[in-house]
Amino acid sequence: MTTLLALLANFVAGALTWTFLEWLLHGQLFHTRKLRNSFAKEHALHHADPTHMVGWPRKLLGVAFVIGVGVAVLRLALGDFEAATAFPVGLGLMYVVYESVHRIIHMKAPRTAYGRWLRLQHVQHHFHTPRRNFGVTSTVWDHVFGTYVPFTTPLAVPRRLAMPWLLDPETGELADAYVDDYVLVRRTRDVPESAVPA
Ligand SMILES: [Zn+2]
Ligand SMILES: [Zn+2]
Repeated sequence: MTTLLALLANFVAGALTWTFLEWLLHGQLFHTRKLRNSFAKEHALHHADPTHMVGWPRKLLGVAFVIGVGVAVLRLALGDFEAATAFPVGLGLMYVVYESVHRIIHMKAPRTAYGRWLRLQHVQHHFHTPRRNFGVTSTVWDHVFGTYVPFTTPLAVPRRLAMPWLLDPETGELADAYVDDYVLVRRTRDVPESAVPA
């Protein structure tokens, strides 16, 4: 019988492992120049149009499959269903948190200083450092592996790729609330690096 504390530790370990996978998959699979893969193609579409996101049904089916395989393998290795469940479920739930945070960053205006910082961090990745700043829910692994580049405000955002919440609905210009954080530019080449992966 697994203790509650051990289950909790495994659950947290699973969630922390996802934060590392988030950095690893984004940097080494989605933005790789070497390996042509469907994830990289899909991610290139997201950079070309930041509102483009794969729908929840496909994402949830994928994560359910990964959790199911993880539980089955650990069940065989550990012989205990409860112990086998905590780690994959922690990992899978943190993945769902990542997906939710990523969508909210693009589609909803910030309400807190932390939300504002999270958006600046990800906008920096999209339009300035597409080969750096891979963490979405945190910058921890970017710091660990030297891929963290601090942003300086105001950050340039191509007008046609601007997040909907950045724009004043009446004028279509940058909303007053964000003039300290962002500046709209005409073309992608007006920003220092191409946002579209090669
Ligand atoms: Zn994004
Ligand atoms: Zn990216």
